Amino acid sequence: MEKTQLRRPRSVAVVGTGMAGLTTAHLLHQDREKRYQVTLLEKRDQISLSAESISVPSKEKNNPAIWADVPMRAFAGGFYQNLIRMYDYLAVNYHAQPFLFSFTRLPKPQDSSTTSCIPGPSMVYASNFHQVPPVPRTVDLIHWLVEAVYALACYVWFTFCCFFVAPHEEDQKTGAPSESLDHYLRRIWLPQTYVVNYLLPLISSVCTCSHHELLCFPASDVLAYKRQTHSQQHFVVTSGVQSVQQKLLQGIDVRLGINLTQVTPQNEGVQITYSAADEQTTSEYFDLVVLAVSPDVAASLFSPLNSQLSAIPTTTVETVAHTDETSILPMLRATSSLSLKKRNSDLSSRTQRIHFFSNDCITEAVHEQPNSILVTTNPLFPLDKSKIIRSANFTRVLRSPQSRMFINSIFRDRSQRKVSPYSWHSGDNGVYLAGGWCWDGMVLLEGCIVSAMRVAADLGVTVPWDSAE
Ligand SMILES: Cc1cc2nc3c(=O)[nH]c(=O)nc-3n(C[C@H](O)[C@H](O)[C@H](O)COP(=O)(O)OP(=O)(O)OC[C@H]3O[C@@H](n4cnc5c(N)ncnc54)[C@H](O)[C@@H]3O)c2cc1C
Repeated sequence: MEKTQLRRPRSVAVVGTGMAGLTTAHLLHQDREKRYQVTLLEKRDQISLSAESISVPSKEKNNPAIWADVPMRAFAGGFYQNLIRMYDYLAVNYHAQPFLFSFTRLPKPQDSSTTSCIPGPSMVYASNFHQVPPVPRTVDLIHWLVEAVYALACYVWFTFCCFFVAPHEEDQKTGAPSESLDHYLRRIWLPQTYVVNYLLPLISSVCTCSHHELLCFPASDVLAYKRQTHSQQHFVVTSGVQSVQQKLLQGIDVRLGINLTQVTPQNEGVQITYSAADEQTTSEYFDLVVLAVSPDVAASLFSPLNSQLSAIPTTTVETVAHTDETSILPMLRATSSLSLKKRNSDLSSRTQRIHFFSNDCITEAVHEQPNSILVTTNPLFPLDKSKIIRSANFTRVLRSPQSRMFINSIFRDRSQRKVSPYSWHSGDNGVYLAGGWCWDGMVLLEGCIVSAMRVAADLGVTVPWDSAE
């Protein structure tokens, strides 16, 4: 733990304004002993957490605008304990959000380049079984019943295994990495048809990656996520994550348009080099630096991390907010007799629909938001350009048994460091890491909060939502 600085607060540069950077900056800034002078640095010209979210004017007078978060920032009980405690501490309003998921299997690639080839869905599933899902009209009832019983039996078996069949963990003696999801699913004999048609589309839409990338994840990630979210409700922030952003930013010095290019520890602190809007390269010193950026960026900024972090897989995910309903029309025709207007008012009442369109490799997810906005992730079909509201690319950090070992060694307790074959540890040389990927689990918002709390704990700062209990 750091010694209390008596003379002046220590200067801390927190780099990145995603959930991890904002939470770290907030925690250090609110230190009761005022030991840290925090500066938040961001390469974009706006805070990134809610930069792509869309404000939809309300149709009713005097009602505030509705926010559609892009990308989705949903969370669930169980898995997101720290995020929920932080939201409660910040008095952020959130509400339960039930979902209806539809599953559509696309024909082979050569036949599936246009929306005209999209068949109706084969199955519809209600999150937590909160309602009886509609039977698609395009499917024969007997066939649907057989399929539903099959899918349910596989689901029950998978859920049982998540609780009672542990994945193989890393072998400390031989150094063999932990078991991959692919290996685990084969070991428990989960039928491939169920894996390909239901499990991979659903979980790959949470991780927004391809089916193959998901199968390379450590099995422990997916199992822990399933166990902890089992029977738990999903939630969304009522006014979008911009309301979280506002609260976390209060009182913090923010500098936008600062593109870091290098981080170099020196005797008198940590030197950061960056280019600003005028494209001038500038250097500055801080006592401490927190890199709340993706691992590929951290590797390029800070050379001691280069070899460890280069092994962490990442991908780019495209998300498009639009009003082009062409691809979901077969699904709507198959399950709903409602006119679009009626359907929209029905949707805004409670349940939201997410449509999965899967081929052998990847799943496109189309999320119906209130007021006719659709958010498509990993689009497989061309969208009408005139109906696109906003399109954005995000770096998505993936997981593998190998990268899990690297990440765990970086964040291992200092007392256990001797067993680690890797040298650099978060906090060494005054440089810390935070981010959705900086923990042992799926790369989601909870990892942002856990890693920010860890930086605070390392610097002796009390986490208010941790101490309230
Ligand atoms: C399509 C999609 C849907 C998702 N849905 C969910 C969901 O429903 N629930 C959930 O829990 N999670 C979800 N996630 C995951 C979650 O959004 C991420 O895990 C989380 O946002 C990561 O936050 P972060 O702060 O670690 O990193 P980021 O948000 O990536 O922030 C990194 C910041 O660093 C800045 N930066 C990068 N390089 C530099 C540089 N050189 N100099 C200065 N600044 C720099 C970036 O501009 C950015 O502001 C989703 C992700 C995607 C892509």
